[in-house]
Amino acid sequence: MKILCVVRNYAPHAGEMQAPVPAEPTFFLKPDSALNPKQLPLFYPDFTHDLQHEAEVVVRIDRLGKCIEPGFAHKYYNSVALGIDFTARDLQRQAKAAGLPWLVSKGFDGSAVLSPFVSLEELGRPIDNLDFTLSRNGQTVQQGNTSQMIFSVDTLIAHISRYMTLRTGDLIFTGTPAGVGPVQIGDRLEGTLCGRPVLSLDIK
Ligand code: MG
Repeated sequence: MKILCVVRNYAPHAGEMQAPVPAEPTFFLKPDSALNPKQLPLFYPDFTHDLQHEAEVVVRIDRLGKCIEPGFAHKYYNSVALGIDFTARDLQRQAKAAGLPWLVSKGFDGSAVLSPFVSLEELGRPIDNLDFTLSRNGQTVQQGNTSQMIFSVDTLIAHISRYMTLRTGDLIFTGTPAGVGPVQIGDRLEGTLCGRPVLSLDIK
């Protein structure tokens, strides 16, 4: 399986990164070794001094597909999770400055945290109207709604599948709203999806 992550899919986040909104959907990959689906504590890695959270809605692909039309993309997923795309921001900055790939800054072990997946039927909400929040030590630091995405989930699926086959179990991290920021040892991050507490993670 592959983990696809969208770059700058919320305009206020692009603003805080002082980076332009891409003209078309733009992705990077994390390896499957990055996954932390049981929300085990994340041990602050020794290769970074600027570990940052990015809360994102994650879509799980549940059908094989290639060259999927936007109008049919909704047939390729049924459930979503809240995820955290952890980023070693200092390594990412260095890579960007050198024009080199971001892989290690985004793909290290434990950098893809997932809540349990919930079906859209159970949430009772359409894919383009999902509220989500992330708090750090009880203070809300990020809140978003998938209606604020620059590129909708169906647009993302259509775009990706022009280039690569989507398979059952593939995950799409759909981008983070504003409010990304650093975490410290001892922090607790908690997330909600459509008002439900779904994610809790300790930084150790
Ligand atoms: Mg991200």
